[in-house]
Amino acid sequence: MVVPRFAAPLPLPLAMSDLPSPTRIPGRRFLQSPGPTPVPDEVLHAMARQPMDMGDPRLDATIAACEAGLRGLLHSPAAEVFLYATNGHGAWEVVVENLLPPGSRVLIPGTGHFSDSWSVQTEALGRRVQNTPWQPGLPINPAVVAQALQDDPLHEIVAVFVVHTDTASGISSDLPALRAAMDATGHPALLVIDAVASLACTPIDMDALGANLVLGASQKGLMTPPGIGFVVVDAKALAVAERNPAPRFYWDWRLRQSPLNYRKFCGTPPQTLLAGLAAAFGLIEAEGEAALYARHRRLARAVQAAVAAWAEGGALGFFAQDPASRSVSVTTITVPEGVDVDALREVARDRFGVAIAGGLGPLAGKAFRIGHLGDSNAATILGCLGGIEAALRVQGIACGEHGLRRAIDSLVEDAE
Ligand SMILES: *Cc1c(COP(=O)(O)O)cnc(C)c1O
Repeated sequence: MVVPRFAAPLPLPLAMSDLPSPTRIPGRRFLQSPGPTPVPDEVLHAMARQPMDMGDPRLDATIAACEAGLRGLLHSPAAEVFLYATNGHGAWEVVVENLLPPGSRVLIPGTGHFSDSWSVQTEALGRRVQNTPWQPGLPINPAVVAQALQDDPLHEIVAVFVVHTDTASGISSDLPALRAAMDATGHPALLVIDAVASLACTPIDMDALGANLVLGASQKGLMTPPGIGFVVVDAKALAVAERNPAPRFYWDWRLRQSPLNYRKFCGTPPQTLLAGLAAAFGLIEAEGEAALYARHRRLARAVQAAVAAWAEGGALGFFAQDPASRSVSVTTITVPEGVDVDALREVARDRFGVAIAGGLGPLAGKAFRIGHLGDSNAATILGCLGGIEAALRVQGIACGEHGLRRAIDSLVEDAE
């Protein structure tokens, strides 16, 4: 048999972000999408290792570090952690299959593209979804959620699925206000929080909040490549799952409650990514939660200062109308009719080395997004804003001149 051989060596890109571009840009490319986010060197190095055999105690220690990291970050020492070889959509499915009996009802407050996508997936799995209306530019209105629960006297709604930060709109909803509104109704529905875009960016105190489940993924605030999805579950949600007759296997918590790592993962654990995630938790612990969240607020304020300055040109604007709801993770900037967002992104990426995201769902073609979560600092944010400002000028998009200047002012004057 003739073994096929390649005539020329396969091109090996230095980084994933080098792939779509025809030319390599020297220096560091800035990945300013709201996920995946840049991976710190410490995390990359932790992943540069041979796999371990499944009986190696270092593998159990790696898994335990990830579980402890999540419990610690969420301030929920007794919660169960289930880690999966999946992404955020997989974590959505985990929640549906474990918590909701076939045909049962769930309330998903409208936050935009991500509440829509979660609703579509939940319905596709045979559950009934009730939505509160999405109000473009605004966070969830807790009173509307409370009303929907009050209108359910038979308590058919099993859970409320809340997208904390909708990554498409750049808006974060007020979780304690939502919890208080739910409590006031006396409705027993579980509170399930999608924290994919907010975890490790802004505090989520699961026990104090009375959240029954928090789900997330590795590739956003947690600074690890995509490939791990997880849920952190309290006793009440576990008990609901226990009574749920829905047929399930790979996602099933009951099968995964085991000290054996092969069972915990329903097969071989994704150990390379787990090593990266454990290293990321080490970085988070070393920085300290208070500093981590303060840094995210500081960088978000710098981005918002630049966007406010750009908006003075009359063309660009914040999608989030209420400044208090603008997320610390991602900023969504609207563009007028006729602006080609994809062309803007291309110039920003290929000429100025800054990858930004486009609009999603109803905002496709009408907005671009700057991710400022995870492994960022003042210099990377200023570089990112400078690259975007340059791309806006190349594209002839009317924008105020002092974006970068105001971002610097913001960082210089920021007392936090
Ligand atoms: C990114 C994201 C998801 C989906 O995660 P994937 O890993 O892309 O499947 C879900 N919810 C929110 C809020 C997100 O930001």
